[in-house]
Amino acid sequence: MRLILLGAPGSGKGTIAAELTKNYGILHISTGDIFRANIKEQTPLGLEAKKYIDQGALVPDSLTIAMIEDRLAQPDCEAGFMLDGFPRTIIQAQELDKMLAKKGVALTAAISIVISDDEIKMRVSGRRVCIVCGASYNIPFKPAKVDGICDVCGGEVIQRDDDKPETVLSRLKTYHEKTQPLIDYYKAQNLILTANNEVNYLLAFEEIKKGLALRKII
Ligand code: AMP
Repeated sequence: MRLILLGAPGSGKGTIAAELTKNYGILHISTGDIFRANIKEQTPLGLEAKKYIDQGALVPDSLTIAMIEDRLAQPDCEAGFMLDGFPRTIIQAQELDKMLAKKGVALTAAISIVISDDEIKMRVSGRRVCIVCGASYNIPFKPAKVDGICDVCGGEVIQRDDDKPETVLSRLKTYHEKTQPLIDYYKAQNLILTANNEVNYLLAFEEIKKGLALRKII
């Protein structure tokens, strides 16, 4: 299975990706997580990416595409993968199509997570993440059992810098301008599978399961 997850920042992509991995064992590749790991390690890529991420802007296509091409060339991707946060521009989508065509494979589906901006602003203000393993939490929807401590690995659970309210507004603007057009791009390829995450991620996940089953993917 080769999936992509499309959705605004704070739409629940990470949570739904974790459900997909738990249920189907599919490899989860998050460009945001790769950038954050590079920032933590202070690699040249991390230092460059941080300039954009801190402003709520997209990292340039050239850097992001090279990074994902590298990642998809690794052997663990051969059995399938789920891309969370990539592609985010039409150019990235076109380049992904070319990468997959070179390998002689195609996408299975593009999951579009639907949620209103108002709900996103509310949820992002409560979003927390483990700085060690990346597990995500949300106050009050999915809090860590012990405040500030990760249930999975015991690491520290914090609010991401780019989840500050002013940065969230610019990330949402960037999403509507640059990423939302991808829904039509993948509709034209008959790959879109819609999941409404306005109420609860488990309901959205049920929709995804039904959609994948209807398409005889699972
Ligand atoms: P995320 O965790 O997916 O919300 O990503 C965090 C930040 O990383 C985004 O706000 C962007 O600045 C950057 N980023 C992640 N994926 C991409 C991408 N495909 N293209 C450009 N920038 C990205």
